[in-house]
Amino acid sequence: QFPFGRRLPCDIYWHGVSFHDNNIFSGQVNKFPGMMETVRKITLSRAMRTMQDLFPLEYNFYPRSWILPEELPLFVAEVRVMKDSDPSWKPTFIVKPDGGCQGDGIYLIKDPSDIRLTGSIQSRPAVVQEYICKPLLVDKLKFDIRLYVLLKSLEPLEIYIAKDGLSRFCTEPYQEPTLKNLHQVFMHLTNYSLNIHSENFIHSDSVNTGSKRTFSSILCRLSSRGADVKKLWSDIISLVIKTIIALTPELKVYYQSDIPAGKPGPTCFQILGFDILLMKNLKPMLLEVNANPSMRIEHEQELSPGVFENVPSPVDEEVKVAVIRDTLRLVDPQKKKRKDTQCFVSRVPPAVVQWEVSLSMAGAWNGMSFNVSSNPAHSGILCRRCPSLEHVPGSGESLPDAAEQPEPDAARSPEAGLPSLCLKQVFPKYSKQFNYLRLVDRVAALFIRFLGVKGTTKLGPTGFRTFIRNCKLSNSNFSMAAVDILYIDITRRWNSMGIDHKESGMCLQAFVEAFFCLAQKKYKSLPLHEQVLSLLEFCECHLAALDEKRLLWGWG
Ligand code: ADP
Repeated sequence: QFPFGRRLPCDIYWHGVSFHDNNIFSGQVNKFPGMMETVRKITLSRAMRTMQDLFPLEYNFYPRSWILPEELPLFVAEVRVMKDSDPSWKPTFIVKPDGGCQGDGIYLIKDPSDIRLTGSIQSRPAVVQEYICKPLLVDKLKFDIRLYVLLKSLEPLEIYIAKDGLSRFCTEPYQEPTLKNLHQVFMHLTNYSLNIHSENFIHSDSVNTGSKRTFSSILCRLSSRGADVKKLWSDIISLVIKTIIALTPELKVYYQSDIPAGKPGPTCFQILGFDILLMKNLKPMLLEVNANPSMRIEHEQELSPGVFENVPSPVDEEVKVAVIRDTLRLVDPQKKKRKDTQCFVSRVPPAVVQWEVSLSMAGAWNGMSFNVSSNPAHSGILCRRCPSLEHVPGSGESLPDAAEQPEPDAARSPEAGLPSLCLKQVFPKYSKQFNYLRLVDRVAALFIRFLGVKGTTKLGPTGFRTFIRNCKLSNSNFSMAAVDILYIDITRRWNSMGIDHKESGMCLQAFVEAFFCLAQKKYKSLPLHEQVLSLLEFCECHLAALDEKRLLWGWG
């Protein structure tokens, strides 16, 4: 721990809250630059909307959302149209302030004309979302799932999902929303931080009872009722991969800005918390992504009025210790060295292989304490009879457990005594099924290429013009004057609603909008994703030819 700053370089830097240390030139940091901004409610909703525009069916796991205040008229108009076309539709909406967490400031409404909505949104931007009225209930209670996902690398994309997660329960029996029960947070919101204050909250030492349980205990229950748990897992894996595919374009822009290519810098990894709600029909719906999930393995207990004590929480410990331990195992720099050595020398003396990780803990730990060493109690993540994280859609191929693939010389490995990995690789393992969705990633690559000055996240007018010229997008129907107007129109609109006013210029989302606009203009009759794909291929082809020409002429 370096509470007053760090002097020596480390292998692994473990920051409490965010990527914030610009003096790291090597090693690995446990946060990506810009992750906090990328998963904020508004930014996430925008990224999901872009993907829903391109691939509506693939991204129907995110509730229909509108961004306030700028989309209030759109929200009112769309709800009116939907109600007119289906008078039996009696929706409920949930309003969530941007940047809020732990249920803070969240409320439900039945109609866009609700007075609270129009009153408060001017001061606090928010997302308003269709409320999922028919969640799956267990013991008559609504619950959500917190799953831990390791984004191990952005380029190439590497994603791992933890085999077990947490289920957090409401503390009042669920009823579908009515005007009478809309305000009952213990019935509608599953946040632990809210429900802990309910007199019905049950702390349990068992993982399958109480107000916080393991997800595997829920799966066991569902499985015993005959539910298709394998299909559920495969839907969850798809949801996670698709969500990360929606987030990577923005993350790449932040990454190149903080850690410019070609300069010494660290690589990054990050543990994310995915909040997922299961619908009655077992369809998983994404609620949000947490950049900084709590890793606390204790909870507060009131011993006598006003006297609190931290006591261990076995459910949290069961899930979280394994996630941290296996994240460290996966990013262990010695592991890579060992693998490399094994390629050259078939027999490695055990003494060479050591567990040596320098841990820089800048910032808070959320009160967490953990032990990286092996604890057999944490090895049996899922109950044996239950199907676990095994299938992905269409693959029909099972995910072998890491423990089932012994590394050469496994007995000599310092990991030999550790439980099998709780983190399962899902990407690139299933990249074939999902790569076609990565269109915006390619648009972001164009954006980054034309950013020019390293360290920026916004494109200036000259950069935009160069993009148009180099990709040969201007012609007699689309003059350079029209290009400038497009740039100014879109940039001005995005900057007027943007959260980041630090830099002027065109942000990635604005560039994506401009790109979609150009694609629609050029390839009128195709569906949007085909228009975008065609334009991407057109641009990439011209840029490749240009690069070749430059190489030939030695322009660097
Ligand atoms: P916060 O970051 O404040 O926890 P969330 O988006 O996670 O915000 O929402 C808080 C809680 O509200 C969730 O845990 C869930 O129980 C409930 N919730 C959020 N969105 C929806 C929705 N669209 N439908 C039903 N319940 C929701």
